[in-house]
Amino acid sequence: MSTVQLETISHRIGGAASTGGSSRTTPVYDPATGREQRQVLLAEPADVDAAVQAAKAAFAKWRDVSVTRRARVMFKFRELVDQHTDELARIISSEHGKTFDDARGEVVRGMEVVEFACGIAELTKGEFSEQVSTGVDLHSFRQPLGVCAGITPFNFPIMVPMWMHPIAIATGNTFVLKPSERDPSVSNLIAELYAEAGLPDGVFNVVHGDKVAVDALLDHPDVAAISFVGSTPIAKYVHERATAAGKRVQALGGAKNHAIVMPDADLDFATNHLIAAGYGSAGQRCMAISIAVAVGDAGDELVERLRAKALSIRVGPGLEPDSEMGPVVTAAARDRVVGYVERTTADVVVDGREHSLGSDGFWVGPTLLDNVTTDMEVYRDEVFGPLLGVVRVATLDDAIALINANPYANGTAIFTDSGQAAREFQRRIEVGMIGVNVPIPVPMAFYSFGGWKDSLFGDHHIHGPEGVTFYTRAKVVTTRWPDQGHETTNMHFPTAS
Ligand code: NAD
Repeated sequence: MSTVQLETISHRIGGAASTGGSSRTTPVYDPATGREQRQVLLAEPADVDAAVQAAKAAFAKWRDVSVTRRARVMFKFRELVDQHTDELARIISSEHGKTFDDARGEVVRGMEVVEFACGIAELTKGEFSEQVSTGVDLHSFRQPLGVCAGITPFNFPIMVPMWMHPIAIATGNTFVLKPSERDPSVSNLIAELYAEAGLPDGVFNVVHGDKVAVDALLDHPDVAAISFVGSTPIAKYVHERATAAGKRVQALGGAKNHAIVMPDADLDFATNHLIAAGYGSAGQRCMAISIAVAVGDAGDELVERLRAKALSIRVGPGLEPDSEMGPVVTAAARDRVVGYVERTTADVVVDGREHSLGSDGFWVGPTLLDNVTTDMEVYRDEVFGPLLGVVRVATLDDAIALINANPYANGTAIFTDSGQAAREFQRRIEVGMIGVNVPIPVPMAFYSFGGWKDSLFGDHHIHGPEGVTFYTRAKVVTTRWPDQGHETTNMHFPTAS
C-alpha cells in the first residue's frame, strides 16, 4: 500500500521559502472531513531569529523609503488581495471550516485595513506650532519602531493579521507574523502577494509555529513590539512576558458577548440577527453573541423564535454553496462544545450533538440553551462554538449590571425600539464595542477595534488611529535660529517670552 506524501508548509523568511532548522511539524486538517490535508513546520528559536534578523536588515532600508512609495506598495497590494479574494477564501474555508461566503467577508474586512493604510501619508502628518516663544517654533513627528511581530488566532486567519501588518509596514516598520498553526497556508500566499506588490524582501516574514516560536518572539531583543490576538490566558501571558522584555504590547483576548433583547424590540429582526451572530462561523468569532439577555416578557417568544430558526440552519461543508454553517476547527473544539452541552443544567432547547452528518468531520450543530444563570460554567467560560444561551432578567438595569459583572468586555449589543434605553445602555455599559440593533459591532478599519477588561491587555486598541500610534513613536522638536551675537546667558527654567 502506498502512502501519500502530504505537503509541508514552510516559513517565508527574507522573501523566500525556508525550512530552517525546524524538524517538528503539526497536522493541518480539513475540518469538514476530519482528514489531515497538510503539515506545517513548527519553528525553533533559531528560525525565529533568522526571521527577525531578515526583518532587522530590511528595516535599515525600508524606514528610509518615502511615505509615498510605501503607500504605493499598499495600493498595489490592495489590488492583488482584491484579485485573489476567491482563492484566499477557498484556502481559509478548507483549513478553518467556515463557509466560502463568510471567508470572502473576512478577506474584504481585512482589505479595508489595507485601504486605510493606503492613506498613511495623511495619517502620519505631524504638527507644527509657530512662535511658541519669541523666535521659537515647535514641531512633532512620528517614526517607526523597528521589527514588529504579530501572533494571531485561528478564527480569522487573514483578517486578524491584516489588523496589524498593513499599518505596521506602511508606517515604516518590518514585520514577522506567527499565524495560527491550525490554518497557516493563507499567510504564505499573503507573503507572495506582498512580494508581487513590490515590497522588498524581509519587510514581511512568516514563521509558523507553536509556543516555542511565540516565546522566542516575546524574548527576542530585536523585536520592538508585539501585537497578539487570541484567548485571554495567552493574551495575559504574552502581555506580561513581552512587557517584562521591554516591548510595546497590545494583546487582545477572548470574549463573552451579550446581546440585550428589550420587550419593545422587533423580535423577528432580533432573532434573525442573533442567529447570525451566534452561529455564523460556528460561533468561532471573538465578536460572536454567546448570551442573549431577555428582558421582562421578551423571553418566551424570543426562545421560541430562536428555536425554530436554529433548527432551520443548513449545516454542511464550508465549500458547498448551500451551507450556512460549517464544522468547528478541530476534533478537540468539537469535544469541548459537546462536553459543555453534556454537563449543563440549563434547558437544552436545541441540541447540536445530534448533527454528525455521517462523516468524520468536526461537526456540532447549533445549540440553544434557555434559563442559563451566571453561576453555570456554560455562562462563565468562553465556549467558542455554536452555542447560544438565553439568560432572563427583569429590567434593563439588571441586564446592564449582569454584563458589567462579567470579566470579558469585548462586544455587546442591545435590540430595542427605545432611543432612551439605547442611550442609557451605551453610556453605562463597561464594554469596548457596542451595537445598537447591530449584534456584531466590529468597527470599520478607520476606527480602532478593542475590548475592555479581560478582553484586552495593553493601552492601545488595534488598527485605525490607535494602530498608527501603536506602530510609531513621537519626537517633538523645539527650534530656534538665533541672531548671531545677541544672546545672553539665563539660568532659569525656560518659559515662553
Ligand atoms: P489561542 O490563544 O489558543 O492561540 C492564539 C495564538 O497564540 C496562536 O498563534 C497560538 O499558536 C499561540 N499560542 C497558543 N497557546 C500558546 C501558549 N501556551 N504560549 C504561547 N503561545 C500560544 O487562540 P485560538 O484558539 O487560536 O483563537 C481563539 C481565541 O482568540 C478566542 O479566545 C477568541 O475570543 C480570541 N480572539 C479574540 C479576538 C479579539 O479581537 N479580542 C479576535 C479573534 C480571536
